[in-house]
Amino acid sequence: MMLSLSALASERVRRREARIRQLERERDEREAAIFARIPRLAEIKELQSEIGLDVARLYLHRPTRFGKSFEELKEWSLQLSREREELLRRHGIDPYELEVHWDCPRCQNTGWVREPADGDTAAPPRKCACLVQEEIDDLYRAAGLTGPLREQTFEHFDITVYPPECRKHMEGVRDYCRRFADAVASGDARSSLLLQGAVGLGKTFLACAIGNRVIAAGKTVGYFTLPEFVELVRAEKLDEEFRSSTMQQLLDADLIILDDLGAEKVTEFVAQELFNLINLRLNRQLPMVASTNLRPSELEDVYGERIASRLLFGFEALTLQGEDVRKVLRLRSSEA
Ligand SMILES: [Zn+2]
Repeated sequence: MMLSLSALASERVRRREARIRQLERERDEREAAIFARIPRLAEIKELQSEIGLDVARLYLHRPTRFGKSFEELKEWSLQLSREREELLRRHGIDPYELEVHWDCPRCQNTGWVREPADGDTAAPPRKCACLVQEEIDDLYRAAGLTGPLREQTFEHFDITVYPPECRKHMEGVRDYCRRFADAVASGDARSSLLLQGAVGLGKTFLACAIGNRVIAAGKTVGYFTLPEFVELVRAEKLDEEFRSSTMQQLLDADLIILDDLGAEKVTEFVAQELFNLINLRLNRQLPMVASTNLRPSELEDVYGERIASRLLFGFEALTLQGEDVRKVLRLRSSEA
C-alpha cells in the first residue's frame, strides 16, 4: 500500500524536531543534576553567557555590565573554562555529560550539514547521510516493500533452488530483470515486464528484487498484490480525496509492481480501475512489473479482454521455469 511521499516528508521533519527537543531535554536534566551537586558550575555557565553578551555590547559600542576590554573578557572566559574543566575532573564527571548526545553528531540530528566556509562564500547546506538513509527507508515504506519483501534482492537470489536443467534459463531471466531495474533506476526504462510462470517459481522474489534495486537508487516504487489493489480502490470509494491522491501516486511512481495477478475474479469496478492504471502508464511509457501464474487465455477469462491484451502485448514477457522453489527450500530445511 502506498503512503503519501509528502506526508512522509513532513512526518520526517516532525520526528526530527521532536527527537532534537527530547535530546536537549535529556541534556538539561543531566546538567541540572550536576549543577545541584556543584553549584559553582552553574555560576560559571551564567558568567560565561554574560561575558558573551558583554562582547556583543562592545562590538555595538553599548555600555557593558563588567566594564572590561575584549582582551580582559577573553582572558576571564578562558580562566572560567579551566576552572570548569578542573571541577569536572575533580568530581569525576565526563564533560560529554553536559553536552547533547546527538544520534548523528555530524548534523546534530537536523539532517543537514554545512561545510566550513570556503573563503568568503559559505557553502550551501547539504543532506547528511543519515537523512538520505531515512528518505530511502521511507521510500521502502511508501512502496509497501517492508519486512521479508525487502530481503528479496538480486544479491540473495539463489540459482541453486532451480533444477540444474533450468538454471541457465533462470540466470538469463535474473540478468534481464537486473538490467531492467538498472534502466528504471537511471530513468531510461520505457517498457514494462510481465513475469509469467507457475506458482512458486520466484516471480515475487524477482519483482521485489527489481523494486528494491530501484528504491535503493532513490526512486519511488509502488508495490501491491491484487487483493491490496482491491482494498485500495474500495477504500478510495469511501474517501474521494484519498482515492485521487493514491491513484495519482501510482500513476506518477517511477515504477509500479502488480504482483501475483491470480485466478480470483475481480469486479467490473476493480477491472476498470486496473485497466485505467495500466493503460495510462503504458501510454506515458512509465515502467511496470506485473506477475501472474495465469496462462494468456486464463488472463482474458479473469481480467477481461482489454486488460489481458495490454498485459500480453504492452509488456515484455519473461517466462520462469523450474519446480516450486518453496518445496525445494522446505526439503532443504528438513534435511539440514
Ligand atoms: Zn546526520
